[in-house]
Amino acid sequence: DDKQILMIPGPTPVPEQALLALAKQPIGHRSSEFGCIFEEVLQNLQWLHQTQNDVLMLTASGTGAMEAGIINFLSPGDRVLVGCNGKFGDRWADLATTYNLNVEKITADWGKPLDPEQFREKLEADTEKQIKAVIVTHSETSTGVINDLETINRHVKTHGEALIIVDAVTSLGTVNIPVDEWGIDVVVSASQKGYMIPPGLGFVSVSEKAWEAYKTAKMPRFYLDLDKYRQFQAKNTTPFTPPINLMMALQVSLQMMKKEGLANIFARHQRLMNATRAALKQLNLPLFAPDNVASPAITAVAPVQADTEQILKIMKNRYDIALAGGQDHLKGKIFRIGHLGFVTDRDILTAIGSLEATLIELGQDSLTPGAGVAAAAKVFAQSE
Ligand code: PMP
Repeated sequence: DDKQILMIPGPTPVPEQALLALAKQPIGHRSSEFGCIFEEVLQNLQWLHQTQNDVLMLTASGTGAMEAGIINFLSPGDRVLVGCNGKFGDRWADLATTYNLNVEKITADWGKPLDPEQFREKLEADTEKQIKAVIVTHSETSTGVINDLETINRHVKTHGEALIIVDAVTSLGTVNIPVDEWGIDVVVSASQKGYMIPPGLGFVSVSEKAWEAYKTAKMPRFYLDLDKYRQFQAKNTTPFTPPINLMMALQVSLQMMKKEGLANIFARHQRLMNATRAALKQLNLPLFAPDNVASPAITAVAPVQADTEQILKIMKNRYDIALAGGQDHLKGKIFRIGHLGFVTDRDILTAIGSLEATLIELGQDSLTPGAGVAAAAKVFAQSE
């Protein structure tokens, strides 16, 4: 049991130092001891987000942070553009519809990126400035596609009025998002991804412009009222009882991330992605997302010669490597390899080697044993 390698796109494995923090006795969240931990965590969160904005912490999964990202800044009836090219884009549209926003979807097929031009056209045509927010899922976890946030954001900035709300759940801490440099208003993320700790914390970063919108936004809110978090965080505490031990684990994982450095973290995820993709190509496993829009956090594979469910089963039962299946209409059609967070080159070699063995067991005789591992090894050898 305890040799399982978790390679789903979250939760991700947790480093031992963070696990040890989880095993500690809780301390009071109004204590000065907690205040010290929290102060450090808040500073490091701003570092990770590359921002001076508030980064607010919620006891919630990513979806709770998404909900906070909607209800604090918008009013019923507001027109919003929502990028939909996968399960999580669709979730934003459902969420926004639930809160009676006037949702206009900008869609692309699952496995394809959103087209920034479609955002530009809608935003340019909106001379009355009715569009209040543009909502984009950066790394679409369900398909392994990364959307062109930089370009979409540029169009939002040209519009001038609309907020940009970004789902960075599987991109924060895996790929560069210079929040202040780009002027991203709201960034939503969750602890069980790039943060390398278990699920339970949601994060929302909020720009000055978004706080201005907060003042006039009319949706009811209580537990997810971000101003409460802002007020308390200014005093190094939280409005409600936080998951203390998760925060102690976060203190540790942020220290580890700082030690590694942002550039190295992003380079590591690029390398893991490149090695995974090079290997899968050698194994004749079609990649679901094209190379130029591939997410550094997760790779989706659409096998043609072998049965997806069989692959997942053998990987789990014989090799104790947990991969993820497809979601919604992609169930049974694709499988997904998560390579975000606490993941190293060795994990990729292990997963690819086991995948080769799985394909051999499934009778794929045309496969050259070792070809995938060799391709991944070559990528590693060529990088620093
Ligand atoms: N957005 C994205 C891009 C995600 O990957 C996820 C989780 N897989 C979520 C939102 C939702 O997060 P949670 O399951 O923590 O609510």
